[in-house]
Amino acid sequence: MNILVINCGSSSLKYQVIDSETELVKAKGLCERIGIDGHFSYKPEGGIKEEADAPMPSHTEAVQMVLDALTNAKTGVLKSLDEIDAIGHRVVHGGEKFTGSVLITDEVIRGIEEESDLAPLHNPANIIGINACRQLMPNVPMVAVFDTAFHQSMPKKAYTYALPYEYYEKYKVRRYGFHGTSHSFVSRHGAELAHLDYGNSKIIVCHLGNGASVTAVKNGESIDTSMGLTPLEGLVMGTRTGDIDASVVEYLCKKEGLTVEEVLNIFNKKSGLAGVSGVSSDFRDLFSASEEGDERAGLALDMFFYRTAKYIGAYAAAMNGVDLICFTAGLGENSGPARARILDYLTFMGVKVDQEANMAASGVDARISADDSRVMVYAVPTNEELAIARETIALL
Ligand code: ADP
Repeated sequence: MNILVINCGSSSLKYQVIDSETELVKAKGLCERIGIDGHFSYKPEGGIKEEADAPMPSHTEAVQMVLDALTNAKTGVLKSLDEIDAIGHRVVHGGEKFTGSVLITDEVIRGIEEESDLAPLHNPANIIGINACRQLMPNVPMVAVFDTAFHQSMPKKAYTYALPYEYYEKYKVRRYGFHGTSHSFVSRHGAELAHLDYGNSKIIVCHLGNGASVTAVKNGESIDTSMGLTPLEGLVMGTRTGDIDASVVEYLCKKEGLTVEEVLNIFNKKSGLAGVSGVSSDFRDLFSASEEGDERAGLALDMFFYRTAKYIGAYAAAMNGVDLICFTAGLGENSGPARARILDYLTFMGVKVDQEANMAASGVDARISADDSRVMVYAVPTNEELAIARETIALL
């Protein structure tokens, strides 16, 4: 079956067509600057990437452009739209309502809408993508796969904030966690690679990209994760603070004459690696700047590695041990030097790195711990689109 996987942001739409039997990507691409001017890219399997500026006043035009490209007589990979058997949509926030993927119905769309308060930038964009697909392909079954769902297994002690309990009861203020599709995919695949019984294992997944989070996966279930009510909490990120004393909000409001919204915007968009370094939010830029002697770029990297290692230590304690640590996403999958810097903190728990294997591993499944390491360590490229396609098939 052909599964169209859609990951819709407020002004972008990423797509892939995946053959569910072979699990190969038949075509993929990206619509950007939707509602601004519009830029479209399309790449068929084994073919050449096409790119063009194209007006996209709304997501409906973007989806239409994707469908036209997929069925185009010259470079399309499908004869007609009838060959799309199902659509899997990434949805960011499922709140407490969605503990797993679901077939999309009117009621599900209302449910996603109701969770929009918790993800005001993301959920409305996801709904727009769903509605655009429904409009153009009303009879194709669609599935929503939530970033938060995998973490719904967390125990109360892990997800409850130490606030007056009524705020949880009234407004569901709690830790939800994100990147769930990735943490689930990588922990399961990591267990296979390491020959562990997934249902009886202790795994820590470090998803280290522009957005970054760590999850403790015990016996196949997320029992704690570093992101919270929103993706702001936890690790130092490209532009986000991660963990910070909430009192800083009031202090900066007073000192700088800012509103709470303005400070939160700074926490989300101008902080993290970009804020500390003043150079960039991108790890590769920071490595280069640091090598050229830029001290603040070096500090931003030091802070990132240090905090990531602290979370790994904390989650080893949360699970009373750890069998496997997995590194994934842009930095985690590709950067031997970054992994080495983090793992340097963990020799106390018997982690031994195979330096050569670690430096060689980039974008491939690879064991990077030494044979006599007490904890196994793997680089495991994430594949959220494939995970969404698998979930979609499972629900059909
Ligand atoms: P997101 O999906 O959150 O936007 P990614 O998972 O694509 O982010 O990760 C992007 C980050 O990964 C960037 O900061 C980039 O510099 C970093 N990255 C990608 N490849 C490498 C590499 N080979 N070495 C170091 N950093 C890398």
